[in-house]
Amino acid sequence: MSKGFSILIDTSKCTACRGCQIACKQWNQLPASQTKNWGSYQNPKDLSADTWKLVRFADGTNRDGSVYWHFFSDQCRHCLSPGCMAEAEHDEIIQDEKTGAVLYTPATKRLDFRATLEGCPYNIPRQDPKTKQIFKCNFCFQRITNGIIPACVKACPTGAMQFGERDKILDITRKREEELKKTFPEARAINPDDVRVNFVVKADPKKYYEYAAGK
Ligand code: SF4
Ligand code: SF4
Repeated sequence: MSKGFSILIDTSKCTACRGCQIACKQWNQLPASQTKNWGSYQNPKDLSADTWKLVRFADGTNRDGSVYWHFFSDQCRHCLSPGCMAEAEHDEIIQDEKTGAVLYTPATKRLDFRATLEGCPYNIPRQDPKTKQIFKCNFCFQRITNGIIPACVKACPTGAMQFGERDKILDITRKREEELKKTFPEARAINPDDVRVNFVVKADPKKYYEYAAGK
């Protein structure tokens, strides 16, 4: 399946305002959770059953001694061949033919969570410790099937996120990759032929997040 929709996340335009993170919580009616200062502006520390979108913060020193501070608005990539589905036998995980969305149902509580997580190259699924149900971004399925763009995309004030037909978003992704390469030789689109949520980064993806480019 290669038609359907896609999202572009151009990290070079992200200012880490976290509007997308909050919009995801608001639209999906996900509760806030108590967090602690763990020495980073990134909050919360990780994705969870209640946090499906997370702006990850990463800082460090380049080989030439300059410093970097990168932001990575992490979420499910809605893979064309989702590794997380390997454990599903029935209706636990559905790949919608029209949109391409990979949807987790309440039946995910029957799945082996560790195996589901292991199957995901991007370290995305999270389990509710009480109900055992597994959660992640649902591509704002109710919105996109009613002609409305995803809540996170709508909330982004810098234009770092775009949503549309997959072919069109792939074109924009490739163009943006080429533009950025002129200034940042390590710039790239991350696995755009394998996923529906296309990230463009200015540097080695590992400088953004351990699993940014997949396991
Ligand atoms: S597409 Fe919807 S569910 Fe997925 S991260 Fe964005 S707001 Fe959250
Ligand atoms: S990113 Fe992970 S959870 Fe999302 S569809 Fe791909 S394998 Fe599944």
